[in-house]
Amino acid sequence: MVETEKIEKNLFDKNMPFNDETPYSVIYPENNKDVLEALLWANKEKIKVIPRGSMSSLSGGSKAVKDSLVIDFSKMNKIIEMDTHDLVLTVEPGTKLKDIYSEVEGSGFYFPIDSFSSYNGTAGGAAGENYQGMRFAKYSDTRLNTMQIEVVNPVHGIVTLGGKTVKNVSGYDAKIAWIGSEGTLGIFTKLMYKLLPLPEKRSIIILPFESVDEFFSFKREFDSLKVFASALDFMSNKIANYILKVDSKYSAFILIEGRELEVERLKQEILKFGKSSEAQIFEGKDFTFMYENRLSMGSRSLNDKLFADDVTLPIKSCPSFLKYLEGKNYDFLLHAQDGGMLVFRERIPLANDEIYKIVLDQKGSLIAERQLGIQPKRKLFLEKSGKVYVELMNSLKKSVDPNFILSPDRYVF
Ligand SMILES: Cc1cc2nc3c(=O)[nH]c(=O)nc-3n(C[C@H](O)[C@H](O)[C@H](O)COP(=O)(O)OP(=O)(O)OC[C@H]3O[C@@H](n4cnc5c(N)ncnc54)[C@H](O)[C@@H]3O)c2cc1C
Repeated sequence: MVETEKIEKNLFDKNMPFNDETPYSVIYPENNKDVLEALLWANKEKIKVIPRGSMSSLSGGSKAVKDSLVIDFSKMNKIIEMDTHDLVLTVEPGTKLKDIYSEVEGSGFYFPIDSFSSYNGTAGGAAGENYQGMRFAKYSDTRLNTMQIEVVNPVHGIVTLGGKTVKNVSGYDAKIAWIGSEGTLGIFTKLMYKLLPLPEKRSIIILPFESVDEFFSFKREFDSLKVFASALDFMSNKIANYILKVDSKYSAFILIEGRELEVERLKQEILKFGKSSEAQIFEGKDFTFMYENRLSMGSRSLNDKLFADDVTLPIKSCPSFLKYLEGKNYDFLLHAQDGGMLVFRERIPLANDEIYKIVLDQKGSLIAERQLGIQPKRKLFLEKSGKVYVELMNSLKKSVDPNFILSPDRYVF
């Protein structure tokens, strides 16, 4: 049965930009039947439902709405099965990404959606937000690394979307629409991921740069190698200093992984293009330390009350945009292989923010990696998406949640 615990005020982490309103109740289901029972009741009573992982979504996706039913997945936190023949891992939605990571790596496999350690994001939250982490350009996102989901909605009950086998190509791939839906289309109760072989060697290279142009001429040389690094991030001094102490105006954080010979060769080629005498290289135990530092960079900036807004630009527009940010004294982190970037500011921008106008003019996207949640830019996103897009999304929504109880006022609804 569903265990109802005391109603807590302001459950939300105080560092997060959006605070909870007081919910009607918080429940802690232990299985999919508990979730179904709660949804059927909420649908009958027309009570809003907010699913919640570890509450780390910076866009306010899991913020409790007044008088809503919050479904907290902390008790559904088990790894269900690791199948080393079909190379898939099945987990409950409350499983922490970092537990997934250690289970997978401990068994000699690899899951490219990295965890960001200090906020303990969960599988359900990662699916709700279509989480990617820093290796997106090479390995894509949660959507494309998920084979199958079990999802509950008040109309169809418990539904399985996707399959275990890699070759499963016919028909609509509905799970693609559900992952990234921010709790608006149903509640995930099981997720199955595709695994990869564990890379033999991993290196992090940190290179100093004194100007945006200097970095982009390095990037042109890097691109001539016709390979993807696992991550190639370019950031301003303040952001780099959340990772390690540096003096240069800008730094590049480069993650390379693969067979030992391949990594060694790529490393030498990168060092030829950058200032090799000032490069810092982290491998073995030093790699783990530096990798963890990179993962906790976001939470360190949050402790300084910096709001990391995210946008994406076509890569050719990035140099001029970064110079514009420089002129405004905004700190940034650019994922240089895909154009996704974080712009750090001390306030949550309004929908008419100048940056959004530039991004849209340059045919960029207002969401790079953090979904819309309840952010003010959601309004602008809806205007720019157009009536047909919103109508199409609305008809999908109505077919699974006719009373609009699931995660109200997130994404397009
Ligand atoms: C420091 C920091 C760094 C970050 N870096 C990145 C990054 O590099 N790339 C990136 O993509 N994102 C990043 N994020 C955002 C990240 O995607 C989310 O914070 C994370 O995935 C949410 O996980 P969570 O368990 O905390 O979920 P929550 O915040 O609790 O929920 C997130 C969303 O998923 C929904 N949800 C939760 N559980 C379920 C469920 N079982 N069924 C259906 N919906 C559910 C919620 O309603 C909400 O809309 C970062 C966040 C922080 C705080």
